[in-house]
Amino acid sequence: MRSIRRGDNGPAVVEIRSILVGLELLETASDVFDDDMDSAVRAFQQSRGIGVDGLVGPETWGTLDAARWRLGTRTLFHSVTDALVGEDVRELQERMLEMGYDAGRADSIYGPRTARSVAQFQREVGLTPDGSCGPQTMKALRRLGRKVVGGRPQWLRESEAFRQAGTNLMGKTIVIDPGHGGGDDLGVVVPDGPLRWTETDLVFDLAARLEGRLAAAGMRVHLTRGPQPASSMTGAERAELANSLGADLLISLHLDGHDNEAAHGVATYHYGTGSGLSSTVGERLANLVQREIVVRTGMRDCHVHSKTWDLLRLTKMPAVRVDLGYLTSPVDRDRLVNPLFREQIVEAILAAVQRMYYPVEIDVPTGSIDVRQLRVALANKA
Ligand SMILES: [Zn+2]
Repeated sequence: MRSIRRGDNGPAVVEIRSILVGLELLETASDVFDDDMDSAVRAFQQSRGIGVDGLVGPETWGTLDAARWRLGTRTLFHSVTDALVGEDVRELQERMLEMGYDAGRADSIYGPRTARSVAQFQREVGLTPDGSCGPQTMKALRRLGRKVVGGRPQWLRESEAFRQAGTNLMGKTIVIDPGHGGGDDLGVVVPDGPLRWTETDLVFDLAARLEGRLAAAGMRVHLTRGPQPASSMTGAERAELANSLGADLLISLHLDGHDNEAAHGVATYHYGTGSGLSSTVGERLANLVQREIVVRTGMRDCHVHSKTWDLLRLTKMPAVRVDLGYLTSPVDRDRLVNPLFREQIVEAILAAVQRMYYPVEIDVPTGSIDVRQLRVALANKA
């Protein structure tokens, strides 16, 4: 292909001009490669990091051809035989990266990694995760709009996903998973005179209290086990149970233990690999649970962490595990054995669940929600 240059005219010039006009580098369409077009080509070459010579040879033509695609003008998908290339792909990749999805390098090529990141985004906003970017996906992206830039993108994404699911928690299904239980699996055990405190009993008590409160708020609640299960369950089995129930959320309750009795505090876990890939909705739930508990109970904040545990990895719904203090810590234990304190924890978790279904725009300071008022507000919205 001969380079097209200043002084040329014809259909190729018309086409190149129209791309440059689309890119707002040139004002008028025509069939003449004039001085204005020469400047526009040079500006384009400079912006794309290719040799600035004003000539439209194969490289410049290829880059111009890719640039004609503005995000949203065609459906993007991963084609194994002939990869889609374009500025629109690059723009999409940049959006994905900006929002925390692992789209790889923004190389303008719609490869499998880009498709995977799009599928992940689709899943979280409640679309069919087919990994292609068509009108529905564009609509979801546009709705997130500029809010995503510079904010807490994952939080905004989650609010989007939950907006699609509906902001009312009435009728939502939640699985509460009291840890351990069955066989000799008592979790952390601490002797106390002739008695002993066990993680398995205390978390079941918490789960049962939570069950009542959540059910009163209109949710469908399932526990993964009873107070004295016949056999123990693995994390994978608990995840499978929650999946089979089609649960909207899962909260697993544990207590922690440590040889050093000075260790104390509360920590919450959500699914994540620690390298950027994480369940963003799970992370939001984890943050809410952690914040509400810390603020309402004053327990030491051992923060939110990502883990790849079976229970978190295999569940299809946002799932978190919260370790509600150290049974081996005299400070935490004194509080945990007090039913009134456990009631406070339940109240905190309930508030966190309510907040999951509360639009971000009208978020209120942590610890300030009167759960009864919130329930009224939500009921009125429905
Ligand atoms: Zn445990």
